[in-house]
Parts: sequence; structure tokens; C-alpha cells
Amino acid sequence: MPTASQRIPAVVRPLVSERARKTLDLVEKFVNEECLPADPVYHAQLGEGPARWTYPPIMDDLKKKARDLGLWNMFLAKGHYKEGAGFTNLEYGLMVEHFGRCRTASEATNNSAPDTGNMEVLAKYGSEAQKKRWLEPLLKGEIRSCYVMTEPGTASSDATNVALSIRRDGDSYVLNGQKWWISGAGDPRCKVYMVLGKTDPNAEKYRQQSIIIVPTDTPGITIKRMLSVYGYDDAPHGHAHLVFKDVRVPAENIVLGEGRGFEVMQGRMGPGRIHHAMRSIGAAEEALNWLLTRANAEHKKPFGKLLSQQGVILQWIAKSRIEIDAARLIVLNAAAAIDAGNAKQALMEIAQAKILVPNMALDVIDRAVQTYGAEGVCQDTPLAYMWAQVRTVRIADGPDEAHLEQLGRRENKRAAEAAFLLQRQVEITDALFRKYGTKESGPCSKL
Ligand SMILES: Cc1cc2nc3c(=O)[nH]c(=O)nc-3n(C[C@H](O)[C@H](O)[C@H](O)COP(=O)(O)OP(=O)(O)OC[C@H]3O[C@@H](n4cnc5c(N)ncnc54)[C@H](O)[C@@H]3O)c2cc1C
Repeated sequence: MPTASQRIPAVVRPLVSERARKTLDLVEKFVNEECLPADPVYHAQLGEGPARWTYPPIMDDLKKKARDLGLWNMFLAKGHYKEGAGFTNLEYGLMVEHFGRCRTASEATNNSAPDTGNMEVLAKYGSEAQKKRWLEPLLKGEIRSCYVMTEPGTASSDATNVALSIRRDGDSYVLNGQKWWISGAGDPRCKVYMVLGKTDPNAEKYRQQSIIIVPTDTPGITIKRMLSVYGYDDAPHGHAHLVFKDVRVPAENIVLGEGRGFEVMQGRMGPGRIHHAMRSIGAAEEALNWLLTRANAEHKKPFGKLLSQQGVILQWIAKSRIEIDAARLIVLNAAAAIDAGNAKQALMEIAQAKILVPNMALDVIDRAVQTYGAEGVCQDTPLAYMWAQVRTVRIADGPDEAHLEQLGRRENKRAAEAAFLLQRQVEITDALFRKYGTKESGPCSKL
């Protein structure tokens, strides 16, 4: 079977260095031989009750193996961050696909969200003191972090609504408000929150919010409850509903400066969306592996035939192959666009990937679930959990509809240009009719 580097889509192959190809093959081997077999052990070590909010010992062994192989912090892109492993967004995109095939690989290699986005923020915008205190231990994988934006009382897909109060008081800021869906807050190693809140309700619309660093043990923070995703608790990471009551932090914890929350957030979003999209591609590939296995299982033949001998299932297999390969190209194109400039210049390409990929992956996973019958919806395959995880990608980091609206508006700006092109064609056609003295018939040439 060809290795991951031999399967790189032809169109992007020239953009992938020899070093990245070798690392990609190493990533695939690490995921196949270490992480996928470790997943059930990780789940079993989580156990029941309060033990679920500790963390499984197998993770430390996986982390050590990953570090020994040099598979560490590959997400920090070359040319943008000096702290990373020196790969482009495109090269890392090819690698993170494999992380998406399993539960343990992203964390084992210190490439898991939301730490990745938070590390990008600290590396890009943090002061030297902030980097020393928080970025260094995050880069070493010694602590974990949360991104704290969404609120129960506001439509948070529009971050200008974010209302948690961050009020200046002498040398401190004081935080009051509530946040929810704070991923990672259940993990005992989570030591720092990056909080988006309002510092000045009277400032210009995009200058009202700021991001501030809050150590998790600051007095006044309580975890009100943990939220479930389609019934899954996602332990030990989890998603918390947090309450901030008179939480006081030093003024120097503000990132980049007061009122610059949007600027910081924009810097964080682009590459993260590519990472999620490529993880979803990996999930779809893994689901297709499960589908193929069930479709060719000799011991389970409804009506005396393998599932793969049923035309409809073969069509599912073919469609899944086409859709995964097409979606991968969309994401790699977005990654290449970021590499060629920056995330802001690649907004359209990123939005396309963000919308297309989870929807595609959900279709593929659903087909795989269906081939397993009842077994597909229970805990005996990873498919049910995989579906629940990928479903949230359509909401987290901005819902599909918000991205569709943005994309639609941009595309719609081409309306005048499109009409001009069509009008020009009509005029040329009319001239051709006149030249040849031909009578008009068939397709209409008028707009
Ligand atoms: C598993 C999971 C993990 C998460 N982790 C984090 C985290 O770590 N930190 C954090 O801060 N947040 C996190 N979130 C929250 C996530 O970022 C928000 O849910 C998301 O931004 C949407 O905000 P909202 O839930 O307030 O929905 P709302 O803003 O209330 O939107 C509701 C719905 O309105 C519709 N809508 C919105 N905008 C438009 C539009 N322009 N046009 C048409 N329809 C529209 C969409 O259908 C949308 O789903 C997580 C969410 C999930 C599910």
C-alpha cells in the first residue's frame, strides 16, 4: 500500500519538502501503530465517575514516544512562528489529517485545540513575560489552556455581542460574567484561560472587546456545570459553563492592548479552521476504512451477498472516495493560500473549507454507520462518537450559516462583472448573426 507521502495529491506535491514527506510518513506510522491501538485503552483508563476528570496515564507514554520521534508542535507554521517545527500550513495540513483519524494523536504530539490557537496568539501577540509564563509550558506540553469566548446569554457567533465585563481598577482588571462551551476546562492540567470580554462598551464596534490572560486558579471562578455533546462528556477535556465573579488579574495580563480583542481573534482563527477541516477529512477516511471492512465481511452477508456486492453500497464507496478527495483539495488549497500570504488574504478559501468539509465528513460517516446496522450507532465502533464530534464542527468556530453569508456576500460582489461578461457575449453573438446573415433560432442570445 502506498505511504502517506506517496498519496499526496499530485497538484500540491511540488509544494511539499522532502523533510515534510518523511515526517508525514512518520506521522502515519505513529498514528497507525501507536495512537489508533491506544484509543480503546485511553477510553478504558478514563473509567467512570470523578476518575473521568483526571487523565489517562497512557497519554504520557504516547507523548514521550512522539517527542522521541520529533513529532511535536508541527502546527506553528514556518515563516510565521520561530517556535514551531518549521512546516508550512500545507505540510502540516497533510499531517493533521492523520491526527483526525483517532482520539489520542493530536494531544500526544502537542498539536491539539484549543492549545494550538492559544499558543499562536501568545507567540504572535504575547509580551515577553506572557510568553515566558504561559507559552513556554504550553509548548512543552506541561500545561493546557482554554479559549473563553462564548456566552450563554448572547448570540456569540457575532463576537461583538460578547458582554463579560473586564473593568480596569488601578493596576488590575476585574472580570464579571458567564461563559459556556469552554473546551478543555475539565482537564486538571488546564492552567490558563484566554478570555474575550468587553473593556469599553462605548468604544467603536470592533474596539470594545479585549483578550486577557486569566490563571485558572484565580479566586472568583467557578465551574457551574459540564455540558455534554450528544450525550458524550468528552472527558477529561470537557466543555464547561463558567462563572466569573469579581475575578481580579494584573493589568499586564491584557494581550496586545485594550480594545484589540478582534485583532487578536482574527489572527487566531484562520489556521485553526484548516486544522479542524483536515481532522474531519481524517475522520472521513477512517470511517471509509470501517465501511470497507464491514462491506466485505464474510461472516455478515444479508440475503446471501457481501454488502460490497450490492450496487447501492458500491456507489456509497465510490461517492465517499470522490467526496473525500475533492474536499481534501479544497482544504489544501486554503492552506496553500495562507502560506502564500496570510489568513486574512485567504478568507474565501478558508470559509469554503470550513463549510464544505464537515458536511462531507458527516455524509461519509453516516454511510459507514448505516453499513454496520445497529452496531454502527453504539459504542462498539468509533463511528457514533466520530459523528457527534464532527457534527459540532458545523457550529464551533462560527456556524456554517455565518460563513455562508460572508462567502455569499463576497461572491455576490461579482454580479456586475458577471452581467458585463454576459452582455459582452450577447453583443458579440449579435454581431456574428449580422455578419453571417443567419436567422436567430435555438438558445436565446438576449439577456
Ligand atoms: C463542541 C463545542 C466546543 C466549543 N468550544 C468552545 C470553546 O472552547 N470556547 C468558546 O468560546 N466557544 C466554544 N464553542 C462555542 C462556539 O464557538 C459557538 O457555539 C459558536 O460560535 C456559535 O455561537 P452560539 O452558540 O452563541 O450560537 P448563536 O450565535 O446563537 O447562533 C445560533 C444559530 O444562528 C444561526 N446564525 C448565526 N449567524 C448567522 C448568519 N449570519 N446567518 C444566518 N444564520 C446565522 C446559525 O444557524 C447558528 O447556529 C464550542 C461549541 C461546541 C459545540
